[in-house]
Order: sequence, then C-alpha cells, then structure tokens
Amino acid sequence: MTHVFHRHLHQTPPVAVSAQGLHIRDAAGRSYLDASGGAAVSSLGHGHPDVIAAMHAQVDALAYAHTSFFTTEVAEQLADELVRTAPAGMEHVYLVSGGSEAVEAALKMARQYFVEIGQPQRTHFIARRQSYHGNTLGALAVGGNEWRRAPFAPLLVPATHVAPCYPYREQRADETPAAYGQRLADELEAAIVAQGPERVIAFVAETVGGATAGVLTPVPGYFKAVREVCDRHGVLLILDEVMCGMGRTGTLYACEQEQVVPDLVTIAKGLGGGYQPVGAVLAQRRIVEAMSGGSGFFQHGHTYLGHPVACAAALAVQRVIHRDGLLAKVRAEGEVFGGLLREALGAEAYVGDIRGRGFFWGVELVADRAAKTPFDPALKLHARIKQEAMAQGLLCYPFGGTVDGRRGDHVLLAPPFVAQREELARIAELLASAIAAVMRSPDVPAAR
Ligand code: PLP
Repeated sequence: MTHVFHRHLHQTPPVAVSAQGLHIRDAAGRSYLDASGGAAVSSLGHGHPDVIAAMHAQVDALAYAHTSFFTTEVAEQLADELVRTAPAGMEHVYLVSGGSEAVEAALKMARQYFVEIGQPQRTHFIARRQSYHGNTLGALAVGGNEWRRAPFAPLLVPATHVAPCYPYREQRADETPAAYGQRLADELEAAIVAQGPERVIAFVAETVGGATAGVLTPVPGYFKAVREVCDRHGVLLILDEVMCGMGRTGTLYACEQEQVVPDLVTIAKGLGGGYQPVGAVLAQRRIVEAMSGGSGFFQHGHTYLGHPVACAAALAVQRVIHRDGLLAKVRAEGEVFGGLLREALGAEAYVGDIRGRGFFWGVELVADRAAKTPFDPALKLHARIKQEAMAQGLLCYPFGGTVDGRRGDHVLLAPPFVAQREELARIAELLASAIAAVMRSPDVPAAR
C-alpha cells in the first residue's frame, strides 16, 4: 500500500535506488539504460562528481536564504554565467524551480511589461497547436495539446493556437521548406491581425517542439519570419527552451541555430540536469528597464526563487558543459546517433519519420507509411512501448497524440551528453527491439 499520490493510480512504478552515468538501478536489482534523461533532464547523466561536490559545498555554507531578504553569491554567479552565454541583449535572469514556473513567470513578465509601458489593452497570447509549456494553468492555457487541456479548458485564459512547424505532415509536396516556413509566419500574422495587433501580448513557441510533438525541428527561416511578424506588430516573442535548451540540440540555446533572439526565453530541465529543481527566464534589458523605470518591481515571486543549492547545481552543470566541450560533442555525436537510429529503425514499415538535432530525437510511428496514417489510439502503442522498453532495460519517453492531441505515437530520445558511442548504439538497438516486440502483438495490425 503506497501513500504517494502517483501519476497513475492503478500502478506503482519500480523503486529507483541508485544511479551512475546512464544507468539507473531499482530495488529489485534491475538496471535501466537512461536514453531520455528522464524527460530530457539528465544532461550530465547521474552521479556526476563535480555537481555533487558543488551541492555539498553549498549545503555546508548556506542551504537557504529567502530572496526578499538576501541575494547569494551563487545566484549572482549563475546569473552572470547565464548572461555571458545567452543570446544578445539577454541581461537579466529570473531564477525559479522548474519549467512550468519559468513559463508562468515569462507570461506575467510579458503582460506586466505592456502594463508598464502604457499598453494595458494587450491581454492575449498566441501559441501553437501540439505544443507543451507545462501543467500549471497559465502554461496549460498557452499549451496546444488538446488532451491535456480538455478537462481544464473552462479554467484557462483564452489563447489562440496556430499551426506548429511540422514538415513531415504539413509541408506540401509542392512547397520548399522556406515557402512552408513563410506560410506559417503568414498564418501567425493573420491570427495577430484577427485579434487586433494592439491586443496581443506575445507569441509563445518551443524553438524545437518537444514532449507532445516528438521533436519538431523548425525549417530554416521559419523563426526569422516569425520574429519579423512579431516586430511588425509590437508583439513579444517568448521562446520556451525548457526542454530543447541548455545544450540539448548542440548549442546552448536552440534559437542560436535559427539566428533569432527572443524577448524572453525559458529554460529548466538541462539547466540543473536533474540534480536540483531549477528553471529560469532570461529577459531582454528593455523588459526589465520598463519595470525598473515604472513600478520598480516584478509583481511575482515564489518562496524558493534562486534557491542556493539549486543555483549551485545549475552553475556546476554549466561549468562542466563548457569545460568538457560537451556542446561540440553533442553536435558531432548527435549526427552519429541519428544515423544509428535510422539504421536500426529506418527500414521498418511502422516508422514514419525519424527527426532531431543534437541529442534530441523523435521517432514517429505510423500504420501506413505512404499515407502517414497513425495507429488507432485505442491500442495505446506509446504506453506499451514504454513498458516493453523498461522490461528490456531501456528508459525512453514515448507519447501519444502526436498528430492532433489524440492520434499518433512517437518516442522521444534525449540521452545524457556524456553518452559514449557504444551506449548510443545500444540505445538504438534496444529501442528497435522494444518497438518490434510491441508491433508483434496479436492485436496490433501490421503496418503497410
Ligand atoms: N515547457 C516545455 C517545453 C516542456 O517540455 C516542459 C516539460 O516537459 C515544461 C515547459 C514544464 O516543465 P516542468 O515539468 O518542469 O514544470
């Protein structure tokens, strides 16, 4: 009998007891190869000595001080480090405890900015279908995953959702990637105009669509066109890099590869690599200047803002990433990993698309390759693949609803940056084996 209110109320997960590198062990002595870093979190793997030492030192010196009384050296150092490596003009770091908190803070910062500069009529957010920005009410409101939103829809602030950048399904055969990206930017502009440009606060998007879409990498030029549309209408651009940021795609920020600088960017997961719950919003100078020259504060706050131990962990993770050249490694080995996945899975009729960047990959499954038809959602393939993979000793991150929040299955992979070539090969092999085992089930129709 468990008293923990688990995610699923009909099953209790195995008890994790120890972890090192890419391996987690449970109380029954089973070992699992962590191919997704949990939910794209463990960028340095488990048990990294430098991060653990930094956390120990911080706990010994000062475990907690409330940010309404004090700042701390470690929070200052982390903010300096993040600004040093951030996109141009990002000069302020608001430190929170996770991804949803970062998104909530960004939404409120954007709103307060317009209140401060005398545009209080801006009340509306535009975001994308199939996006995920977190499970708190503000983040859920801008999120575009219908299944997650549905029960809470009456509680959510209204938001408009436009199409994601999903070339596998939505780029037309007669369209170049550039033309497709421009069409999406035009759709965004039409949505802004339909709302009334003077009413729109911001466009919110994951730079690379993650959990609910199965790693959607933007077509070249898409975000540049989006940035132009936002600028034309005085609308802020909020990029959510909670999952795709902090090196996951081979650059510290995914938007570097799009040559676009947002007004606000959210980070979490890889920021602390799972060693502590930590997230942040990085803000352009003018956003913060509007507040400092106006009311003098950001009307927000949480008890654990800038938690010293969380900051110490995040700072250590950042230092290891730079010291050990892990961004270059993720770029180079990411190509290799993509190749391994294609080799292991590419020929299977049930694999529709293998896409990704760096150490961030998605495999989308289909019942019919030519027609790109998804499997019947009632089969719950994604859940079965997760279970089978665990039975075979692999942790991956499958989800359903890829296509429209209800139909479609994908598997997300986000190995720690420290993964060795043999571990990447083993991940591809085990994943192919787990998916194949599920596909052999008598109730799963053969893919065409
Ligand atoms: N934003 C994105 C892009 C995410 O992928 C997630 C979590 O998966 C969140 C926000 C929410 O983060 P958290 O689960 O830490 O609240």
